[in-house]
Amino acid sequence: MSIQIYNTLSKSKEDFVPIEPGKVKMYVCGPTVYNYIHIGNARPMIVFDTVRRYLEHKGYEVNYVSNFTDVDDKIIKKANEEGVDSEVISQRFIAECKKDMQALNVKPATTHPQATQEIDGMLEMIETLIHKNHAYPVPDGTVYFRTRSFPGYGKLSHKNLDDLRGGNRSLLVTGEDQKEDPLDFVLWKPKKEGEPSWESPWCDGRPGWHIECSVMSKRYLGEEIDIHAGGEDLIFPHHENEIAQSEAANGKPFAKYWMHNAFLNIDNRKMSKSAGNFFTVREILEKYDPQVLRFFMLSAHYRSPLNFSAELMEAAKNGYERIATSVENLNYLIGKGVSGEPTSSERSGELTEEEKELLREAASYEEKFDEVMDDDFNTADALSVIFELVKFCNTKAAEPHSKAFLEALKAKILGLADICGLIVERKEEMLDEEIEALIEERQAARKAKNYGRADQIRSELLEKGILLEDTREGVKWKRA
Ligand code: AMP
Ligand code: ZN
Repeated sequence: MSIQIYNTLSKSKEDFVPIEPGKVKMYVCGPTVYNYIHIGNARPMIVFDTVRRYLEHKGYEVNYVSNFTDVDDKIIKKANEEGVDSEVISQRFIAECKKDMQALNVKPATTHPQATQEIDGMLEMIETLIHKNHAYPVPDGTVYFRTRSFPGYGKLSHKNLDDLRGGNRSLLVTGEDQKEDPLDFVLWKPKKEGEPSWESPWCDGRPGWHIECSVMSKRYLGEEIDIHAGGEDLIFPHHENEIAQSEAANGKPFAKYWMHNAFLNIDNRKMSKSAGNFFTVREILEKYDPQVLRFFMLSAHYRSPLNFSAELMEAAKNGYERIATSVENLNYLIGKGVSGEPTSSERSGELTEEEKELLREAASYEEKFDEVMDDDFNTADALSVIFELVKFCNTKAAEPHSKAFLEALKAKILGLADICGLIVERKEEMLDEEIEALIEERQAARKAKNYGRADQIRSELLEKGILLEDTREGVKWKRA
């Protein structure tokens, strides 16, 4: 069976057929970096990292792009409060965000572009849009997208243009009285005192928010991509506007599948920085293992709202422990040689016919796992399948079996957990000297431009709970 993805565009599950066989081009809208990320922001990161891991498990090569929005009113406000450049704020919180992602075992994107590094591409796209009559500058230098010039506007959010009339207040940034139509949205806006700005043919200024994703997606993935994703608050206006900009500029359909995660709530209200009802990832990791937070996020389907509570976190902790304990038990038995009496097969190192049959039974859980994940990435059911496998392994581990058999059972649990990005094997603590030797090797690999090895070392250390931080003073490390 092929993978089915719920597409916001068609409001239905569709067979996943990538544009290019075997390859997936995927763009996930990332955070605005003016503070530590909260666990609501971590939901799309974990969910879409799991989608990526599952696609990779199915053999696809995934080109995964996720941006950092580093020019924004909130960043500027914070920079002005601290009396520093907004770049200082954005760079600080990009670094902090990457640390949180690493702790949560979210793989780094293939590319993490930043808006301020992509201004030329934005100017180019805005010029194209003006040239094609999809955009216009007004006397104060603001450039607007002419929303009604794009016939498909509203197709993602399933809104009708006339219902939207005047309802787009959040887009009225500056010079709104000069707009041709209240529906038009900003592509470029004039600078204000104390704001970062760039030269442009229209005025010194800065880009609107939506244009950055259209431009970065095109630059790193091409004009047509497979999956575009983010939280459901982005459907309108952000993603609707991205579609209008990209399709009007490129003359091609933009993304084939639009995926949106539901909110992480607290007391049944969306967790958000502006409402003040949030916990940062950092705060939660002071109390819980990062793997427990990841488990919690995957315990609901990504399109269902998830309410954060201490009870649910405890349930996630118990669930995670159940898997980790089973692996620990298998490791103990493997170390001991066999569970119970040694068998002749253990001496010969071969699996018995009975054990081969049992492994076939264990493999049926892997098939079941794929079945539920094929159904629009149902991670809640996938975790239930892992529990079933764990139960099966615990039962079999209580019987006398060969070491090879126990190793094979353990590999099955680790394999499924890894697709979910869950690290369930607690490794023995590494000694400081071992860590430092690996860090030195990583530095040497990077110097030799052997980035593959350097990344491998970072992952190996992460698996052992060691977090690396590249700072100006060199590499620092700490235990998670
Ligand atoms: P922002 O920094 O607000 O632009 O958000 C970055 C990403 O986090 C976007 O994909 C948002 O949709 C998502 N997001 C923000 N708050 C929540 C939440 N409470 N639950 C789920 N996703 C969220
Ligand atoms: Zn975006």
